[in-house]
Amino acid sequence: MPVWNPWHGCKKISAGCQNCYVYRRDSQFGKDSSKVEKTKDFSLPLSKRRDGEYKLLPGEGPVYTCMTSDFFIKEADGWRDEIWSMIRLRSDLHFVIITKRIDRMSESLPDDWGNGYCNVTVICTCEDKAAADYRLPIFLKLPIFRREIIHEPMLEGIDVSEYLATGMISKVTCGGESGENARLCNFDWVLSSREQCIKNHVDFHFKQTGANFKKGGRLFNISRVQQMSQAKRANIDYRAFDDIFRRLSRSEFRSRFCLRGSDREYAAKNGMDAIRRHARDFVERRLAPAVIPNDGKQTPMRGHPVFLAQHATATCCRGCLSKWHGISPAHELTEDEKRFAVSLICEWIYRQMLSAKLPGAEHNMVLRG
Ligand code: SF4
Ligand SMILES: [Zn+2]
Repeated sequence: MPVWNPWHGCKKISAGCQNCYVYRRDSQFGKDSSKVEKTKDFSLPLSKRRDGEYKLLPGEGPVYTCMTSDFFIKEADGWRDEIWSMIRLRSDLHFVIITKRIDRMSESLPDDWGNGYCNVTVICTCEDKAAADYRLPIFLKLPIFRREIIHEPMLEGIDVSEYLATGMISKVTCGGESGENARLCNFDWVLSSREQCIKNHVDFHFKQTGANFKKGGRLFNISRVQQMSQAKRANIDYRAFDDIFRRLSRSEFRSRFCLRGSDREYAAKNGMDAIRRHARDFVERRLAPAVIPNDGKQTPMRGHPVFLAQHATATCCRGCLSKWHGISPAHELTEDEKRFAVSLICEWIYRQMLSAKLPGAEHNMVLRG
């Protein structure tokens, strides 16, 4: 996983920071972690190898940004514009920003942020209930193309159902704490988060157990090297739409649909939140009623990214909903069925946007609209 740390050092701001791994690691070298300094990798996305190729290439996966600091820390305010311009220039890369300072994001955005750069996923950390209830309402109001949340270190059971139900959060990751003084992570909390995700058609990932792990009433001390593999062995990750997309990809008709030029531009300019509202509206009016006189003909073949997504995902009419997703035609769609359709449509559009691999600034213009 490529990592880009343009600056190093951070200030502790909430309960999750108590045993911060940056502080723990720096203390081994006598380094003061509270000093925020630019690193030699500040311009990494623009750095090239001897053969002229960029050091960071799209095929290597998302670029995790600012992993030894916080992207929105105040001390970096003077440097962030340069970072945004690099993110803009490298629109072929997908950048992931994890932050506890979501309340500083709005004042830290570049002028052309619009409804969110398409190549940036923002992950909001919520280590406990207080953090979730303070940060998530702010998070959901910000213009962001792709949102995820992370409970790490998970300090208690956290109910985020009401935020997941908005369809605006695509993934939840849970993890325990590592290090000598690691606080407890209870598997029941992790399972509860997973349930919330499944109920709301949201991806779920159990990243690591942490060092101090409770499962089935028993306490386990888990070594650093085993914390990730033990989480993997639990085998509880959930991918809300992968199976559906696998099935759809076998249909020649469904796979013919893709987002091109003006549809892509439209999605980039208006942002995923607007697209989601439109999808909700179309589903509500044309798909949800118990009786639809023109069923099978209610979704145009072009004119809006959502229409294309509906055909591609077999959410275009009640006949397709029934055949592909087992949702019977003879009733008004339930709230859950509507949410499922809207999330599936949005996920298809997001994947289409992500799969655009046009290099350089020219493509960026298209994506940002
Ligand atoms: S915000 Fe993150 S990097 Fe900063 S002190 Fe807290 S845990 Fe450490
Ligand atoms: Zn149909």
